[in-house]
Amino acid sequence: KLSMRLEKVATFVRSGSVVADIGSDHAYLPIYLVKKGIVPRAIAGEVNEGPLSSAKEQIKYNDLNHVITAKLGNGLAVIQDESVNTVVIAGMGGPLIADILENGKPQLEGVERLILQPNVAADHVRRWLFNNGWSLIDEAILDEGDHVYEILVAESGDAKESYSDDLEKELWMGPHLLRNKNSAFNKKWNREWNQLEKVYDQLKQANDQKKLSKKTKDIQQKLSWLKEE
Ligand code: SAM
Repeated sequence: KLSMRLEKVATFVRSGSVVADIGSDHAYLPIYLVKKGIVPRAIAGEVNEGPLSSAKEQIKYNDLNHVITAKLGNGLAVIQDESVNTVVIAGMGGPLIADILENGKPQLEGVERLILQPNVAADHVRRWLFNNGWSLIDEAILDEGDHVYEILVAESGDAKESYSDDLEKELWMGPHLLRNKNSAFNKKWNREWNQLEKVYDQLKQANDQKKLSKKTKDIQQKLSWLKEE
């Protein structure tokens, strides 16, 4: 059975699309998508041999060798010669996801939709999308096993249309998530609030005020954004 997190990711895959799951590990997501009849074909990409062989094993076990291809390669290199229109990158940190997108720009030509699930630092991913002509069309946030996960869905288009004048705040917290707050959102930002307050207090006690002032300002800004919510 798929985790709630990956099940939610799957809801953003358009029926009939061809998907590449980058960093697929056991290929659970492609297997689920094909078995449910959501996609006809999928690629499972992996940079590491260990997870790649787990993926191959699972694909074989499910008798799906003819429709799911497991490929060894770094990031988007595995979609070079494939007609993929949807890319999923899930279960990694935001900075790594942004790096994979940045390094795979040439391969993104022809890709219509990105479904990205950063475990931390989703703002890095939003910023990359914003700077590279991808419109953030939807977002989700969910709470599973004491961890809060965010999912970002982007399509090529007007990157600015998802945002209002409060760009920095929305890049940090998510424009769609801010408009549709749920309990996972509140949980995440309550935690963040407590964390920031702790760091802020520590900074105030430190004596090297000059060096710390930029950081203090940054935290003050974040705390005031959170106070608005
Ligand atoms: N996507 C699955 C999920 O969401 O459950 C697996 C997540 S697992 C924590 C991260 C996987 O990404 C690992 O199997 C790792 O080998 C792979 N990975 C890390 N960097 C990668 C890269 N640059 N290209 C392809 N795969 C990568």
